[in-house]
Amino acid sequence: MEHRVRKVVIAGGGTAGWTVAAALGKVLGTLLDVTLVESDDIGTVGVGEATIPTMRTFHHLLGIDERDFMRETNATFKLGIAFENWGEVGDRYIHSFGTVGRGNWMGDFQNLWLEAREKGFAGEFGEYCFELQAAEAGRFYTGEKAPTSYAFHLDATAYGQFLRRFSEQYGVRRQEGKIATVDLDGESGDIAALVLESGERIEGDLFIDCTGFRGLLIEDALKTGYEDWTHWLPTDSALAVQTQSVAEPLTYTRAMAHDAGWQWRIPLQHRVGNGLVFCSEYLSDDAARDRLAGNIEGEQLTEPRMIRYRTGRRKSMWTRNCVALGLSSGFIEPLESTSIHLIQIGITRLLKCFPFGGISEPTRDHFNELMIKELECIRDFIVLHYKATERDDSPFWQRCRDMAIPDSLAHRIELFRQSALVHPDPHDLFRVDSWLQVMMGQRMMPQAWHRMGALMTDDQLRGTLVRMKENITRAVGQMPTHQAFIERYCAN
Ligand code: FAD
Repeated sequence: MEHRVRKVVIAGGGTAGWTVAAALGKVLGTLLDVTLVESDDIGTVGVGEATIPTMRTFHHLLGIDERDFMRETNATFKLGIAFENWGEVGDRYIHSFGTVGRGNWMGDFQNLWLEAREKGFAGEFGEYCFELQAAEAGRFYTGEKAPTSYAFHLDATAYGQFLRRFSEQYGVRRQEGKIATVDLDGESGDIAALVLESGERIEGDLFIDCTGFRGLLIEDALKTGYEDWTHWLPTDSALAVQTQSVAEPLTYTRAMAHDAGWQWRIPLQHRVGNGLVFCSEYLSDDAARDRLAGNIEGEQLTEPRMIRYRTGRRKSMWTRNCVALGLSSGFIEPLESTSIHLIQIGITRLLKCFPFGGISEPTRDHFNELMIKELECIRDFIVLHYKATERDDSPFWQRCRDMAIPDSLAHRIELFRQSALVHPDPHDLFRVDSWLQVMMGQRMMPQAWHRMGALMTDDQLRGTLVRMKENITRAVGQMPTHQAFIERYCAN
């Protein structure tokens, strides 16, 4: 077989660029010649600090040592996200990464819980989840015999530098410079080379666009087009600022809804990341600045930075000989910390279908189809957070509550309302437990459920729930505090 795609050029050195460089270098480095072009003058978006558990699988694939990674990125452990003021002002629930309770082959745990709740002896749904209770207690432990489901909060800039050092060990070449133009091949229309401001031409067989929101290659050069999702996900701005820590780091991200969006708080070992996400139609920039300034703790370490975006996706993520990863491929706002996952899953898929013999339409279609299906499932999950609300205290929330939603999501909601069933989609990143925690956390309760709980006596059902809770309480009580564990495991 002729090996036709050998020279890979990565445009952009943010989290996306250095993650794909690390993976191509480590996994296919002996077969490829990889160059990354980035411009220090332009810099990176500088946010993206909360992750989900799939990051651990990706690191494992690359052979990244967790302690080194955490030390170098000042990372903390993350067990979930606390949503405040979403269902109604004053509400709070945690969407944890864990499994809630235990069901059986006939039905998931929510059926038992709903039965017990109707009979008046169920605790809160989250009381039956180990990770959620550990998060509430500020405790953490991981080890061979502790299958905790966790992710990280990390310093995005430090993560980029960590991945750069990692990539360079595996032969990835870094080229500093601003890309001035993208040269297309006159005959095929493929990208032939990136031309830097210095005049240098960087030729390649396959180009990876990691240039951020602009999409210098996939959009400016190849005119792929963008599918806009702002009618479902209306926020378009974020104001980010870093502050000093005032307390030991929490094991969860805080996502605090306000009357025109929400605010994140992400605890790292050495500081806290904060950001106000908002819809500019309902909140002015000045009001956003005041609101953020009024709701941060600790000394401000950076000037607030405004970031504008348009939610949606590139019509295809692989066009001609260019694959877009990261912000250049689209953006579903950061509410469930899914962007870095999408970069990593995109890379895993690219590795699996790497076009050694030449780029073909079926390969591109296959890649695009998988990416689009996964993106749409994530989109639906995020839209759910805005739709499932009883808030009507502002025009923003009234609009969210009343908006039309994708049919796929409408079907899931209706199914749950009628029967407590959660439709498991094979492309879905989020498991049944995630959908349940968010739906019920935001006051969506089913009218009926599977009566598997009624097959037990009340004492049996009560005893089952009590034992589950006792086991969790005992296990959580034996864990060290998050801070103590970090000090032992990976503190600087
Ligand atoms: P960027 O970081 O913008 O990097 C672009 C790169 O391209 C830079 O190196 C730049 O120098 C280079 N470049 C651009 N133009 C040129 C040129 N002409 N010549 C040379 N180089 C060029 N994700 C999560 O997973 N969790 C989160 O909690 C999270 N929070 C977020 C919050 C906000 C408000 C936003 C906007 C995003 C968030 N994300 C989050 C997404 C996350 O930040 C990105 O997915 C991630 O940082 C990857 O960005 P990127 O590498 O695609 O782009």
